[in-house]
Amino acid sequence: MQTPAIIHVDMDAFYASVEQRDNPELRGRPVMVGGSGRRGVVAAASYEARQFGVRSAMPAARARRLCPEGVFVAPRFERYREVSREIFAIFRSWTPLVEGLSLDEAFLDVSDAVENGHDLDDIGLDIKRRIAGKFGLTASVGMAHNKLVAKIASDYDKPDGFVRIRPDEVHRYLDPLPVQRIWGVGPRSAERLNDAGIYTAGQLRKTGIDVLQRLFGDHAGDLRRRAAGIDERRVKAERERRSISQETTLGEDLHDLEVIENLVREQSASVADKLVEKGLFARTVVLKLRSGGFSTITRSHSLDGYTCSGKVIGEQACAMLRRWVDWRTEFSIRLVGVGVSGLAEHPDETELIR
Ligand SMILES: [Mg+2]
Repeated sequence: MQTPAIIHVDMDAFYASVEQRDNPELRGRPVMVGGSGRRGVVAAASYEARQFGVRSAMPAARARRLCPEGVFVAPRFERYREVSREIFAIFRSWTPLVEGLSLDEAFLDVSDAVENGHDLDDIGLDIKRRIAGKFGLTASVGMAHNKLVAKIASDYDKPDGFVRIRPDEVHRYLDPLPVQRIWGVGPRSAERLNDAGIYTAGQLRKTGIDVLQRLFGDHAGDLRRRAAGIDERRVKAERERRSISQETTLGEDLHDLEVIENLVREQSASVADKLVEKGLFARTVVLKLRSGGFSTITRSHSLDGYTCSGKVIGEQACAMLRRWVDWRTEFSIRLVGVGVSGLAEHPDETELIR
């Protein structure tokens, strides 16, 4: 069997770079996207802003202190999605096997193209050049024989990275990395490893399985394989994520339709935010209600297309709520939830409901 050829592409400071591209006045300046609204956190920071220590997900007030001359701009997700769609079209010109992780990040399985005589480096370079040529944006590209190593490769020399890690180079690249850089090692696992004197991927892969089993039980083997750069997961063209939801258990039973509708609209907005964050679109809206009598009901409605609009989701959820309420003379609600399912990453333009 041929060696798989996997590319991981990660756009550099994507939202901020799109803003700088669209507005020349922002170029070369520290730009922070987001920072206003309910959450008040930075959604993305340009590399100029990162030099001041600003990071995404940082509270805006802190970012402002670190970088007083920084420019805050409101996010334009519609625009980012538009650019993202065109970038993904470039990916798809090489392979249908594109697994988007977010608007600005994807795995590509280009094994067939390589089989047909293309060089993996040439494909990676072509993607980089076309993104730069068409949008003036830089992407970091990692190439390897599996997803885990490709992702480490794209991150190795970011921004504007271009790194290929061949099978016989895996240990040389991975061994020096701190354990938390290994996929699946969260902060808690990293701490546990550090407490056991294991700081790098190299140390982790050489640690006896019995030692790791005492720390991680059944996960020990997985962890050690990952530290050695072994990963057999395939690139999945459409991610298999089933649903996103938001629910609230109320402190007291609610009887007022208007109050419940407002709550449903708020929940719909935050479900929509999650969709946008993950670069997903939904086809089905689900409403969940628990009445004071403790019975839980769910209602769902499928749209004629896909949406990530809080307004569209909210309208459907409220319509289902009103239909339920219409049937009874009195009601009391103890729990309300809004969810979406039938998720897709890149529905066709003609299927979008805005
Ligand atoms: Mg990125």
